[in-house]
Amino acid sequence: MSARDKFTGVNSITFNKRFKDDADCYEYLSLIKWENGFICRKCNYAKYYKGKKPFSRRCSRCKYDESLTANTMFNKLKFSLLIAFHIAFKISTKKKEMSSLELLIVR
Ligand SMILES: [Zn+2]
Repeated sequence: MSARDKFTGVNSITFNKRFKDDADCYEYLSLIKWENGFICRKCNYAKYYKGKKPFSRRCSRCKYDESLTANTMFNKLKFSLLIAFHIAFKISTKKKEMSSLELLIVR
């Protein structure tokens, strides 16, 4: 077993503790997606209120409702976000040069 394998092992334990269910994943994705604040994609307005879906944000000017997964690699996911996070994590530990942000947000 190489040092890198051990490091990956420790990371998976941390990862599994951090993400126990979908809610943990949604919360994390929300932090990353809007880490610089909300900017409406339609009208560039920065104020929002809670959207229809859990964690979605609705522009308070044009009423555009952006779901949490829109414009991320998790858009229109057919399975649980937790499973998707596990897949993303596996890929990210293989590709060290890919940042978590690059992995989660498709620009
Ligand atoms: Zn707007």
